[in-house]
Amino acid sequence: MPKKRIVFVILSPVFKHVISQQNRMSTTKYIFVTGGVSSSLGKGIIAASLAKLLQAQQYRVTIQKFDPYLNVDPGTLNPYEHGECFVTDDGAETDLDLGHYERFLNVRTSQANNVTTGRVYQSVIEKERRGEFLGKTVQVIPHITNEIKHRMMLLGESGDYDIIITEIGGTVGDIESLPYIESVRQLIWELGEENAMVIHLTLIPYLSAAGELKTKPTQHSVKTLMESGVKANVLVCRTEHPISDEIRQKLALFCNVKPSAVIESIDADTIYDVPVLMQKEGLDKVVLQTLKLNDPQTSEMSKWTAFLEKFKNPKQTINIGLVGKYVELQDSYKSILEAVSHAGAMNETKVEVHSIHSEFLDESNIEEKLGGLDGVIVAPGFGGRGIQGKIDAIKYVREHNIPFLGICLGMQMAVIEHARNVTGIADANSTEMNESCEAAVISLMEEQKAIEDKGGTMRLGAWACELKEGSKIHSIYGQTSIEERHRHRYEFNNFYKEAIESSGLQASGINPETNLVEVVENPNHPWFIGVQYHPEYKSTVLSPHPLFVAFVQAALTNYRDK
Ligand code: GLN
Repeated sequence: MPKKRIVFVILSPVFKHVISQQNRMSTTKYIFVTGGVSSSLGKGIIAASLAKLLQAQQYRVTIQKFDPYLNVDPGTLNPYEHGECFVTDDGAETDLDLGHYERFLNVRTSQANNVTTGRVYQSVIEKERRGEFLGKTVQVIPHITNEIKHRMMLLGESGDYDIIITEIGGTVGDIESLPYIESVRQLIWELGEENAMVIHLTLIPYLSAAGELKTKPTQHSVKTLMESGVKANVLVCRTEHPISDEIRQKLALFCNVKPSAVIESIDADTIYDVPVLMQKEGLDKVVLQTLKLNDPQTSEMSKWTAFLEKFKNPKQTINIGLVGKYVELQDSYKSILEAVSHAGAMNETKVEVHSIHSEFLDESNIEEKLGGLDGVIVAPGFGGRGIQGKIDAIKYVREHNIPFLGICLGMQMAVIEHARNVTGIADANSTEMNESCEAAVISLMEEQKAIEDKGGTMRLGAWACELKEGSKIHSIYGQTSIEERHRHRYEFNNFYKEAIESSGLQASGINPETNLVEVVENPNHPWFIGVQYHPEYKSTVLSPHPLFVAFVQAALTNYRDK
C-alpha cells in the first residue's frame, strides 16, 4: 500500500496536467488581440468590430480586457490617466474599452470582463495567505500565469459564449505584458491551434520624405511576439494610406502569415465604420477559417448599416455644450459623447459637442460660452475644482430655458444651484466640497461615513428607481420601474427635499429600497433634468438611451424655435 501512495504522489503533477488539458477541451473558441509598435492603435475598436461581425454570423461572442497595470481596477485612476472609468451592471469599475464592447455588441459585460495585474496579484497573494499553495514558493510562473489563464477561460467555461475575444492591454515587448503573453502561449498550446488564435494589431507608418509605407516596425513587433513563442495568425495594420499588394505580400512573407491574413485598417471617419471596413477586408472570414468554423454566411448587419446611414446623413446640426473639468481629454467623457451621437443618429441630427472647461467659466464669460447653444450637459466629476463654473452654467441654462441634462455631479450641482438661488438656502453645498457646510443639501449616506478605502467603495452598479407618474422622466422612459448604473458617494439629502420640491425642483425618481432621490426635474422649464445615475453607460448603437434621445429632441426643438 505505501508503495502505491508513493507512485500517486510522484505522478500527481502529471495527472493534474492531463486533467487541466482535458478541462481545456471546450468547444469555445478563443481569440487574443495583442498590440505592437505603438499604443493607442485602437485594439478595443478592432476587438469590438470583429466581435460585431462574428455576432452577425449568429455566434455568441463576448470580449474581455486584460490590463497590465497594478491598480486593482481603474476606479481610483484620474480620468487624465486612463480616460473614463466605465461601470458595469454588477458594479465593476472598468476600462473604457468595455463601453465600446457593450455599445458595439449590445451585450452586457461584467466584472469578469476586465482583469488587471493588480487583481491577479491580489488573488494570488490572498491564496498564499490562506495557505492554498501548500508550502510552495509562489512565483510568476506558474502561479501568476495560472491565475491569468484561469481568468482568461472563466467566461468561456460558463457555456454562454461560442467565442471569447481577449484584448491584451499594452504593447508587445513591455515588461509588464510578459506574463499575459506567456499565458496566451500556454493556452494556445493547451487548447490547440484551431481553438485559439492571435490577432496582432500593428502600425504601418508613412514616411512622407520617402513617400513610402514602412513595414519594418511591424516585422520587429511580430519578431518580439515570436521570441515569446507566440505566432500571430492575423495582422491588422493601422495605416493612413492604403496598403498595396506588394506590401501585403512583404508583410505576409516576413511575418509568417497568409496574405489573406494581412488586414488593412485605414483611418475611418467614425469608429462605427470599422466593422464594415473589417468585413470588406475579410477579417471575419480569415478568423473563421483559422478557427475551423464555417465561412461567413449572409451577415446580419442591416440594423448596423441603417444606423450608419442615419449617422452619416444628418438633416441638421445642433450645438451642445459639455461642461466639465476633464475636457482636455476627450476620453474622459467617452460614454457621454457616444450616447449623444447614438441619440443624434436616431434624430437624424448631427450633434456638435463643445467642450467647456468649468474651471474657466464664470459670470463674465457665460453668455459668450453658453448663449448660442441648443442644450447643455453638466458632466460627472469629483472634488471641488471647477465647481462654481458648473453652478453658474446651471443658473444660466435654468434662467434662459436652455435644455439641461445634469449627470451625477451635474445633478448634484443642479440641486445646489436651485437650493441657493431659488429655495433661498444661501450656503447650500455638498459635503464633498465643504465638509463642515451648514446646509448640506448633498451629503454622505450614513453607511459611507465609516468607509476609508477609496477603491470599489462607492455606490456602484445597477440600482432600481421608481419614476413618478406624470413626470417628464416618466414619459421619456415610458415606464415606472427602471434600473440604471451608479458611481458616486454623495446623495441628495432628504432633509431638504420638501423645501427644494416646494420651490420648484421636483424629485421625480426615487430608489424604492433606500428612498434616495435619483432624478430631479424642473417642471417650470422646457427641459431640465438631473440624474444621480449614469445613463450614458447603457446607450448602445442599436438601442440609444431614451434620456439622451429626448435631450437631443429638446435641443432640436430649441434650435428650431430660435
Ligand atoms: N463626486 C460625486 C460623488 O461622489 C459625483 C460622482 C460622479 O459624478 N460620478 O457623489
